[in-house]
Amino acid sequence: MSRFKPDIVADSVLKIDPETFLHRGILWLAIDVDNTLALPNSPILTDEISAWLQRVKQLGLPVILVSNNLAERVEPFAKLCGLPFISRAMKPLGMGLFRAAKKIGLPLKKGALIGDQIFTDVYAAKKRGMLAVLVHPMMEEESRFFSIKRRLERFVRARQDKRGA
Ligand SMILES: [Mg+2]
Repeated sequence: MSRFKPDIVADSVLKIDPETFLHRGILWLAIDVDNTLALPNSPILTDEISAWLQRVKQLGLPVILVSNNLAERVEPFAKLCGLPFISRAMKPLGMGLFRAAKKIGLPLKKGALIGDQIFTDVYAAKKRGMLAVLVHPMMEEESRFFSIKRRLERFVRARQDKRGA
C-alpha cells in the first residue's frame, strides 16, 4: 500500500506553500494538468494558479507539466503557463517521468509529482522514487469508471488515515 500513500495531501496546489519543496530538498516539480491545474480539458488558466506557478518559478524550482492527455490538449495550456510539457506520459507505468526529468536536466528522485489521482499520479511518483503530492480533484468526473475509481481511492485513503499514517 505504500506506493499509494502520498507524502503530502492538499485540497489544491494553491494550499501548498512552494517553500515546502525546498525544505524537502526537492529541485523540480512535475505537475499534472487535468483536475490539478485546470478543469478537465479546460484551456483556462486562472489568475490564482498562474500566480502560484509564478511563485514556484521565483523560488528557482523548474516546473514541467506531465499529463496523460494528448498534445492537442496539453500544449496550448503549457504555452499559457510558459512551461515545458510531456503529453501522453502514460502515468503510472510509462516513461513520462523519465522524459520529464531528462527535459528538465535534473535527477528523477529530486523531483516531486503533484496530481489528483492515487492510482496514476501518486503511484507513478512513488514507483520512481519521487515525492508524491496528492491534491483534491478540481471536479469529480461523472463517468461510471471514474466514480468506481474515486470510491476505491477514498477507501485507500480512509485506511491510511485509520492507521494514522
Ligand atoms: Mg489529473
